[in-house]
Amino acid sequence: MPQQTITFGEMRAGGAAGFRLFCSGYKCGHHVVVDADPFPDDVRFSDIEQRFVCIKCGSRGGLPQPCYNAPRPSSYPDYRIDLSEPLP
Ligand SMILES: [Zn+2]
Repeated sequence: MPQQTITFGEMRAGGAAGFRLFCSGYKCGHHVVVDADPFPDDVRFSDIEQRFVCIKCGSRGGLPQPCYNAPRPSSYPDYRIDLSEPLP
């Protein structure tokens, strides 16, 4: 059975306003804090993780983790998110 990731609604219910995203690129290690506001409550992390493109190394995909105590994130300046296809 595939691993079920949490939804944005569950993340917000837990008090997180955003999430940290770690680049999947080998040796890159880049990470950013992303504001969760644009994402609907019923979207799962696993639905969007392949949409992130690291501007440092160009890798697609990342590992999102809820961000509970960081300053409220404003944007994702170091990541591009591919929303060319509608969210599920
Ligand atoms: Zn990267």
